Amino acid sequence: MEFNLFTFVFLLAILTSVLALLWLNFRQDKAINNSFNAVPEGFIESIKLEDHQKAGNYTKAKLLLNHFEIIFSTIVLLIWTLGGVMDSIDSYWSQIILDDDVLMGTIFVLSIMLIASLIDLPFSIYRTFVLEQKFGFNRITIKTFVGDLLKEILLTLILMLPLIYAILFLMNIKSIGSYWWIYVWVIISLFSIIMMWVYPSYIAPIFNKFNPLDNESLKSRITNLLNRTGFGSDGIYVMDGSKRSSHGNAYFTGIGKNKRIVFFDTLLKGMEDKEIEAILAHELGHFHHRHTQKRMLSSFILSFISLAILGYLITQPWFFNGLGVTKSSPHAALILFSLVLPVFSFFITPFSNLASRKHEFQADAFAASHTDANDLISSLIKLYKENSSSLSPDKYYSAFHDSHPSAVLRIERLQ
Ligand SMILES: [Zn+2]
Repeated sequence: MEFNLFTFVFLLAILTSVLALLWLNFRQDKAINNSFNAVPEGFIESIKLEDHQKAGNYTKAKLLLNHFEIIFSTIVLLIWTLGGVMDSIDSYWSQIILDDDVLMGTIFVLSIMLIASLIDLPFSIYRTFVLEQKFGFNRITIKTFVGDLLKEILLTLILMLPLIYAILFLMNIKSIGSYWWIYVWVIISLFSIIMMWVYPSYIAPIFNKFNPLDNESLKSRITNLLNRTGFGSDGIYVMDGSKRSSHGNAYFTGIGKNKRIVFFDTLLKGMEDKEIEAILAHELGHFHHRHTQKRMLSSFILSFISLAILGYLITQPWFFNGLGVTKSSPHAALILFSLVLPVFSFFITPFSNLASRKHEFQADAFAASHTDANDLISSLIKLYKENSSSLSPDKYYSAFHDSHPSAVLRIERLQ
């Protein structure tokens, strides 16, 4: 391979991101240690020292695993690119499939996706059956775990095969000219809109059971809240999250008629009706402020910019050579770009999390104006306790990684 200026920039970006991530992890670890022997102020009545220390140990165990993941995934990325593995896979397939560039490219991309997910598998097994198990959160059986894996592979094949084929087809048409990436952007955007629409009613049920929320004593409260906030009444479901983990959650998903608010059965357990109402009001806040649409819009803008950059890079030999690929091609460009993009988009992660935290505050404020803020506070405390979330995160770590503001900040604002 050729070591050019771009190789240098690439290595520098990797080094910067790895050092930054490890530094943030160390800060977080230190923050947990510093507050280990005392429950943070404001939680002394609601959280026992024992639970607080369990959350601390759980957070530390996750950080330790993350250290390994950061270093391991960096080595894998370097082997893929500068190590020449991608180049070898490329020349392997091009000797087998001779006269169809689009088909060859599609198989190349899928084989790399498959290998990458196999490399990731040991981490996923360790996280589920060792780490989560140790802290008593794991509920998934080996049978369900394997079943999930097979379903995911099958879904990827069914959904991604046509998409990748379509993208490579467009990239290979010579007559389209240098603006092929605009067509690709339209295809990707349409695909993600369709997925947003299809996911809640057709894909999520492949993995979980969804039942309409049918707690009678809750019904009148909820109907009342829905009338006040103008949300369609048939979109509230309970999901059997307990099949996989005892962590609880609630989320808002979908667009158009297929929008849903989903409660994990594990979240509802142990919550009072008024607390559930407050959580629902928070999710309705996301709906009211059109957060899904805003997130989609910003992802469309980002993918437009990314594809424009790819449209330029694909014509530059230094992009391929500098990353260990000897023969430039649309499929190599596509994979190289998707491998390298996270290294550079690392630098915008804190901004997207900042936007996400702003949305959480807006949803909290909405909930506080339509229900009693104290109910949301007590539900948040229960939620943080059940999930063993740290109550004393490091401020830089939190600013960079957290899509949700820390419990302390959310409760402070609600008060
Ligand atoms: Zn939220």
